[in-house]
Amino acid sequence: MAFDPLSLRSQFPILTQQANGNPLIYLDNAATTQKPLSVINGIQEYYLTANANVHRGAHFLSDRATNQFELARKQVADFIKAPQDSHIIWTKGTTESINLVAYGLEHLIQQGDEILITSLEHHANLVPWQQLAFRTGARLRVLPLTSDAQWQEEFAHYFTERTKIFAATQVSNAIGVQTPLIKMLQHAQKQGAFTLIDGAQAVAHYPVNVAELDCDFYVFSGHKMYGPTGIGVLYGKHHALEVLMPYQTGGEMVSHVSYQATEFNVLPYRLEAGTPHIEGAIGLALACEFLTQQDREALLTWEQALTNLVYLRLQKEANLEIYSPETNSTLISLSVPNSHIMDLNQYLDSQGIGVRAGSHCAHPLMAQLGVTGTLRASFACYNTLDEAERFCDVLLNAIDLLN
Ligand code: PLP
Repeated sequence: MAFDPLSLRSQFPILTQQANGNPLIYLDNAATTQKPLSVINGIQEYYLTANANVHRGAHFLSDRATNQFELARKQVADFIKAPQDSHIIWTKGTTESINLVAYGLEHLIQQGDEILITSLEHHANLVPWQQLAFRTGARLRVLPLTSDAQWQEEFAHYFTERTKIFAATQVSNAIGVQTPLIKMLQHAQKQGAFTLIDGAQAVAHYPVNVAELDCDFYVFSGHKMYGPTGIGVLYGKHHALEVLMPYQTGGEMVSHVSYQATEFNVLPYRLEAGTPHIEGAIGLALACEFLTQQDREALLTWEQALTNLVYLRLQKEANLEIYSPETNSTLISLSVPNSHIMDLNQYLDSQGIGVRAGSHCAHPLMAQLGVTGTLRASFACYNTLDEAERFCDVLLNAIDLLN
């Protein structure tokens, strides 16, 4: 499986257009990725040939839709090496997956318990835990990872017998650093805590093996890994999913209902209330297939090489601060002391380059870095060396012009 960036790029027709009179350069991939033709065509094909509601077994199209929907669950389970399809719960995305767990575990959390997160979390992996702590009297604690995210021995003290939940991101969306996942999981597991990994920024870049990670929950969004929006996954070990109280109730998730009581369905259905996002699940499975068909190592090396190119060029600039790690990242996050990041963003946009300026849904991390926001360029497999060079040229030009 040789990696040919141009042939791969040709599968993303959206990238061929002009933006503001210039060739479009899309470097906002950490926010959402573009979709390959296989995903776009697959969703269209579903609507052309199979659309019906699922799990009703009522007729030809319903069977066809159900088969495709459940096959998608199996493909996603295989993609992250989940032992069984029933360990995959469909959600709207990472945010909903984390909320489902935070509400689902509430009945097991008491005053004085501790919920531990890291200082690199997206608000999606912070606010649901903070609110759970407010509701239960538990204490939210924060493992103070610095921006190089190296494991320090003193972190071990944060994991105590009171730690009931440990939730951490695999990769920071704001600065691109990978967290010391294995060490953190080992310490959390030693204390018997439930463990949740936010894989939103990891799945598009790194092969994931939940069985090896041995975490209780792993969550991610389809749209950040070449799949559709509005679909995401909560993976859980069987016993971890079993103890979750359903966070939403209604149709599909029940096996019997009377006015007196409701008997919930078996997993995975008991955690999936209402008509699911059928074409989203099918599209996500196609995105998994797209990634599986690639040489994943070559893709990652390419994305890291593009990021390194930008890092090496910008690192020489005295009037610019970089917050991302020097190597192995797939995004670069920076600020320019004498320029406003919004002005830089606007200038880049006027030249057809889409990046992201802001706090990246990580206010506490921005405060820790001493900034209100950063300018972030994030790379995907379809980006090119020319695009990385042009981003640097235009950014440096903007800095000159705006100073
Ligand atoms: N966690 C991380 C690390 C993210 O980067 C994001 C989105 O940027 C989320 C969670 C939330 O994802 P979603 O908005 O798809 O639910």
